[in-house]
Amino acid sequence: MPLKKLSRNTQRSLDDQQATATISRRGAGRLNEGYVWVYRSDVISPPVAAPLYLTRVVDERGKFLGTALYSSASQIALRMLSTAEVKDLGSLLGSRIEAAIDYRNRLVRDSDAYRVVFSEADFLPGLIVDRYNELVSLQILTQAMEAAPVRESVVATLRERLQPAAIIERVEPRVRELEHLAPRDSGLVYGEKLSTVFTMNGVRFHYNALQGQKTGAFLDQRENYAAAAKFAHGAALDLFCYNGGFALHLAERCISVAGVDSSRPALEVADRNAELNGREIEWIEANAFDLLRDYAVAGRQYGTVVLDPPAFAKSKRNLETAFRGYKELNLRAMKMLRPGGILITCSCSYHVSQADFISVLAEAGRDSRKSLRVLEVRGQSKDHPVLLNVPETSYLKCVILSVSD
Ligand code: SAH
Repeated sequence: MPLKKLSRNTQRSLDDQQATATISRRGAGRLNEGYVWVYRSDVISPPVAAPLYLTRVVDERGKFLGTALYSSASQIALRMLSTAEVKDLGSLLGSRIEAAIDYRNRLVRDSDAYRVVFSEADFLPGLIVDRYNELVSLQILTQAMEAAPVRESVVATLRERLQPAAIIERVEPRVRELEHLAPRDSGLVYGEKLSTVFTMNGVRFHYNALQGQKTGAFLDQRENYAAAAKFAHGAALDLFCYNGGFALHLAERCISVAGVDSSRPALEVADRNAELNGREIEWIEANAFDLLRDYAVAGRQYGTVVLDPPAFAKSKRNLETAFRGYKELNLRAMKMLRPGGILITCSCSYHVSQADFISVLAEAGRDSRKSLRVLEVRGQSKDHPVLLNVPETSYLKCVILSVSD
């Protein structure tokens, strides 16, 4: 689609509607089953009237199926917004953001950092909002959310409802490229403050809105940190520790804690976090695979090991390599645990299902001649909701095992 058209459209008001897209029988069938995306291959005729980003969706016979946000670039051409007509997009988005905030207010405890809006899972496709104490981080992933009136209405609702000191937009250049959106730098959208201290489960963390991975922290692990702390004991080793999320939570229960990561900047923040919480933690800059091998040779033993590697399977194509990676890590960790030791093991690869992950763990248990008892099988924190009919919203697995000889 010509981008020029989108920018002209963005000048129009949100009420000025409404285009229509016709989709195939296959696409319509999936929507009827509760799925929320229509792929480009299922779009028979894309919307033509302005503004393109908000469109009615009909089947081949002209039957109305709902209202969607349209992208001229993505393979996901239509993201469903509603099964009804949408006349006032601004007010619909406003009320959905409010509902998302209320949902968190009911579910999040002892923490002032959590995901406020999780795209499709909050019926706000293409929008991610994270709160870090008084700072709000915003991610815009689609053409529709980028359209000027939509952005403005989102920012206005966030300011009004969350009363943040600042709102910072975090840009993923690759996502903007794929959506054919003009490049943009991360930066302040409102206010001036860029750093703060936030709290998860009573543990404090330094935060800088323009640094670090993701939007700054792995908020999706918040509930898993607390669960891990319940079972941890002895000497603990937190592998792929980043800013020390697990390590800091384990410090209260364990006699010693070491955190390992290959990123020095991540460990520098981890060290400041330990100081902030008055904890002694040893931070080791190393490749976790190499370190596990060396420690195994040296016969090191632990009471608790955490494994939280980056996603090994970025696509279905490298699933086999990913399984091998998970197996090797888990096998080594199991061998290193004392009898009765605790393994907290995670996978954030969407393409690795919970069942696949558990069978890899079982194989690692067999090969290491250990008995594994399942203490908890967990997913992402509840502020990253999983929509039951949209498997793509579920990606994080966290299994807590008691390991014996
Ligand atoms: N457990 C962390 C999140 C881990 S994200 C938390 O709860 O916050 C994955 C981390 O693995 C990143 O910090 C990344 O720097 C690190 N990493 C990636 N490859 C690595 C490797 N081969 N060895 C050690 N760390 C690695």
